[in-house]
Amino acid sequence: MRMRILNSEIIHKVGEEVELAGWVNTRRDHGKLIFIDLRDRSGISQLVFIPQNFSGDTFKIAESLRSEWVLQIKGRVKQRPKGMENKDMGEMGKYEIEVLEITAHNESKTPPFDIGTDGYEVNEEIRMKYRYLDLRRERLARNMKIRSEFIDRMRQFLFKKGFLEIETPLLTKSTPEGSRDFVVPSRLHPGKFFALPQSPQQYKQLLMVAGFERYFQIARCVRDEDLRADRGFEHTQIDIEMSFVEQKDVMQLDEEMITSVVEDMGYAVKQKPFPILTYKKAMEKHGADKFDMRNEKDKKDGALAFAWVVDFPFFEKDKKGSWTFTHNPFSMPKFEHIEWLRKSTHIDEILTTQYDLVCNGVEVGGGSIRAHTSEILRAVFSVMGYADKVIEEQFGHMLEAFGYGAPPHGGIAHGVERLLMTLLGEEYLREVQAFPQTSSGRTSVMDAPSELSKEQLKELHIKIENR
Ligand code: ASP
Repeated sequence: MRMRILNSEIIHKVGEEVELAGWVNTRRDHGKLIFIDLRDRSGISQLVFIPQNFSGDTFKIAESLRSEWVLQIKGRVKQRPKGMENKDMGEMGKYEIEVLEITAHNESKTPPFDIGTDGYEVNEEIRMKYRYLDLRRERLARNMKIRSEFIDRMRQFLFKKGFLEIETPLLTKSTPEGSRDFVVPSRLHPGKFFALPQSPQQYKQLLMVAGFERYFQIARCVRDEDLRADRGFEHTQIDIEMSFVEQKDVMQLDEEMITSVVEDMGYAVKQKPFPILTYKKAMEKHGADKFDMRNEKDKKDGALAFAWVVDFPFFEKDKKGSWTFTHNPFSMPKFEHIEWLRKSTHIDEILTTQYDLVCNGVEVGGGSIRAHTSEILRAVFSVMGYADKVIEEQFGHMLEAFGYGAPPHGGIAHGVERLLMTLLGEEYLREVQAFPQTSSGRTSVMDAPSELSKEQLKELHIKIENR
C-alpha cells in the first residue's frame, strides 16, 4: 500500500522516509544537484536529487523533469543546511526531501501562461479556455478552499439551528425574479419549455406549506442577464426560509450566521449589530441602496462593513409606466400597508417587508416576510395589472397551495460569490467560481453554447431559422 503524505506533513517527519506526489512547480538544475519545488494541494516542498542516490539511468529521469510534470517520489525528510532556509516558505522552508526513488506519472506541455503569478495579467479568454491550469495558481486554489470552508461553516451553523437541507428542482417553471429565464425544450411535450430556476423562491415557500419550518439549500441560480463584474449566468445562493417568524427574527438569525462564520474565519466585522437603514435614509445619506461604510483604515484592515436596508417601496413604475415589484412579488407589505394593497390605493407609498444586506458597497443578500394568503398574493399581481386568468396560469399552484394552511413565513438568500468577493477583496465573480462563463457569455474549457445535431433538434421539435 502506498503511504503518500502531503507536503504540509513533512515537518512532523524529520529523519523519516516519506512518499510524496504532486506537480513540478519549479526546477533548478545546479549541475550536480537538481532542486524541484513539488506542489500538491497542501503547498510546496523542496526536493533534492543527488546523483549518488540513483543507480543506472534513473538520475536521467530527474534531469528530464519540467514544469507541471506529475511526480511521485520516495525520500528522506531533512533539516536544510544552516543558512539555506527559505524564509518565504515559513516553517516549510526549514526542510527538504532528499529523493531516493522517483516515478514520473505524466509529462506536461508548456502551459500557455505562467501559473506562478496571481493571473490578473493574463487574457481572460485564455484563462477560461485553460481554466484547469488557471486553477493551479496559488490565489485561485486558495479562493476555492476558502469558498469550500465558507459554505461548510454556513451549513454547520444552519444544521445546529435545526434547518434541513432540501434540494429543489432545476427543471421548473419560469419564476419572476426580475431577470430573463434560461429555457430548456421538452422532448415529451412538443413546443413546451422548462425554465431553469432564477432562485428556489416558490419551492422554498411550498416547503413551508409542507411543514418543514426551517429549510436551507446551497442553491444554484441561473439568470440570463447582461454580464458584469459581479454577475454571471450562474451563481450560488445560501437560500433560507423559515416559518412562524417576523422580519426581525430572520434578520437576527441571519446576522448571527454571517457574523459567526466570517469571524471564525478570521475576518473583522466593522459594526455589530449591523446598522439598519431605511431605504429613504440610505438614499439621503449615500445616494444609493448599496453603500460602503468603510474608512481608509477599515479598507486597509480588510474589515467588513455590513448594513441592513429596510422599508423599500413595494412597487415602482416600469419602462411602460405600469406598476412592477421592486424586489420580490411574493413579499408581504408592511403590516400597516396591507389595507392599501388590498384596496389598491396609495400604491407608491406601500412599503415591503424586504430586507437587503449590504457589505462594503455590494448587495450580498436579501429576503422578506412573504404573503402567505392567496388574497394578498393575488392583490400584488392585480396591482401589477395581471388579469385573473394570467395570475391563475402563472401562479395558480401557489394560490392553491396557500389554500391548505400556509404558515406565516419568510426568508433570505445570499449570493455566495458576492460574499466571497467581499471577503477576499476580489472584484470579479470569476475569481471565486471554479468554471465561470467568459464575459462574452461562453463556458470555460468546454465550448458552449454550441450547435445541436439535426437529430437532436428533430427530437426536440425545434427548427432553427437562418442558420
Ligand atoms: N429569492 C430571492 C432572490 O433570489 C431571495 C429571497 O427573497 O429569499 O433574490
